[in-house]
Amino acid sequence: MKFGLKKVVFVMLLSAIASFAKPTVYILATGGTIAGSGSGALDSSYTSGTVTVDKLISAVPEINKIATIKGEQISNIGSQEMNNEVWLKLASRVNELLVNGNADGIVITHGTDTMEETAYFLNLVVKSDKPIVMVGAMRNSSSLSADGPLNLFNAVNVAIDKNSIGKGVVVVMNDEIHAAREVTKTNTTSVSTFKSPNSGKIGTVFYGKVKYYMNPIRKHTLNSDFDIANIKELPRVDIIYSHTNDNADFVNTALKNNAKGIISSGMGNGNPYPSVLNALFDGVKNGVIVVRDSRVGSGETTLNGEVDDDKYGFITSDNLNAQKARVLLMLALTKTNDKDKIAKIFETH
Ligand code: ASP
Repeated sequence: MKFGLKKVVFVMLLSAIASFAKPTVYILATGGTIAGSGSGALDSSYTSGTVTVDKLISAVPEINKIATIKGEQISNIGSQEMNNEVWLKLASRVNELLVNGNADGIVITHGTDTMEETAYFLNLVVKSDKPIVMVGAMRNSSSLSADGPLNLFNAVNVAIDKNSIGKGVVVVMNDEIHAAREVTKTNTTSVSTFKSPNSGKIGTVFYGKVKYYMNPIRKHTLNSDFDIANIKELPRVDIIYSHTNDNADFVNTALKNNAKGIISSGMGNGNPYPSVLNALFDGVKNGVIVVRDSRVGSGETTLNGEVDDDKYGFITSDNLNAQKARVLLMLALTKTNDKDKIAKIFETH
């Protein structure tokens, strides 16, 4: 009897120590399908951003066993509504929690439509090497076989894994881990929508078991050129998508509306239609930074390929897609208007 009591006290002590030793993970919720709901398990129409962070957390009780979980609601929107204001708020909060706060890792729940842009933005401006994991879902919370709960469980496991330190921001979806710079949404409805077309995934996470195979080496977080502490607003950068029989109207509209930069999402290896090329050249002559990119979806847009970039004063995006080139150009323009310095930033980030 006496021995039994000792045993109970010992077990209680052990579990107290274990809970004290648990890492602290903040779940910052922004909305999206993971926080969406519809009227039935087989109803394909639903509304994003209706479920609060507390409900997201309580739907996956398993995460409380592996970490001390704290939730915060940053926004509750479909990520098609994402804007600079939420980005700056989110980045500042992530930075604060990791640098001055008690967070060992951060999980950000987010809509999938623009997750890649938010991931790359945070990857470039947060000054910590601690894990920052973005997660979402393709099926809303009331759907049959909703993917959100397991994705969230996997994301928390990635956020507490020591090998996630120094990887920059990662995206965890459908048992895969992708680097922020590389990942993109490739399918409108499939749960396997996230791919990294140029480099492949960097790891896997299977029912919480994390395995990494690669390290992202482009500049990010601690050694990136940008720091959220110095960024109060972002300049206007427009993306212009090319097609056959194109016209210069959209470029001219961007210039008229004082865009500071233009990402030209050209055909093939970033080739714009002739009249568009001339309009972009007008932009350069007026101090606008033009980055040639490709609408193809993978591969490098090579400098001075079919377009004489040196003559027109364009730079190229390396192998970033247009939406990520836009993020990088906005940040670059917060520091400089010098085309050559911006070209260097594209070579290194
Ligand atoms: N439109 C939704 C969003 O990005 C889609 C999703 O989360 O899967 O918020």
